Amino acid sequence: MAKDYNKGDLDERLAEREWMVQTQLMGRDITNEAVVNSMLIVPRHKYVMEDKQEYAYYDTALEIEAGQTISQPYIVALMAQALELKASDKVLEIGTGSGYSAAILSSMAAYIYTIERHDILAHFAKERFQNEGYGNIEVRVGDGTLGWTEKAPFDAILVTAGGPVIPDSLINQLAIGGRLVIPIGDKGEQKLIRVKKTSTGELKEENLGQVRFVPLIGTKGWSELNNMNLE
Ligand code: SAH
Repeated sequence: MAKDYNKGDLDERLAEREWMVQTQLMGRDITNEAVVNSMLIVPRHKYVMEDKQEYAYYDTALEIEAGQTISQPYIVALMAQALELKASDKVLEIGTGSGYSAAILSSMAAYIYTIERHDILAHFAKERFQNEGYGNIEVRVGDGTLGWTEKAPFDAILVTAGGPVIPDSLINQLAIGGRLVIPIGDKGEQKLIRVKKTSTGELKEENLGQVRFVPLIGTKGWSELNNMNLE
């Protein structure tokens, strides 16, 4: 079940989240009400390391454990909006990281399955979901480029790390009518691509703009060895 919020949750640093939504999302192209509500509600400061908490509502990505990053708020909102979620949707996320984007999606869909390759990040994310009372997010450690076969098909798939190509495993695990959002390009810069699987099973691809994500490392992503110098 999606989380119910009580007033205490909403008050903590709410003014900063209102400022974030006003200055970083509204003026840009974030118009989806469910996305805006989620961004107002989820306490981003609880998803970053303690010494970064004061910057939690700034217009920027921040470093998290294991040399990874929590994405810029606007990019999280853009991806969440691009998924065109319905309340009944089952979602797969690749790259749990801090857990922030999964928390954002949690109130917009029925169930979120999220995969992270770093144990430590999966561990902290699980702890956060528990503390924050999210009952509809399941975290697994593993190679997300292979998807999560047992739980497929998914109405929406979000990849929050940048890969060289669209993994065919993820296309295969996308439901008819499903949407896959994934950054594709080189390790420095990517295009945010949305793939829609139409009712006839055809794939429609759109470019949503330039982005910069940490590398997607795995069987259908970049190889781990070549990435040593980047982590
Ligand atoms: N959604 C995250 C963003 C984290 S950055 C957030 O809101 O904080 C992307 C994450 O993808 C990193 O934590 C990285 O370890 C993870 N990652 C990279 N390749 C992966 C793979 N093949 N499977 C699962 N996770 C992967």
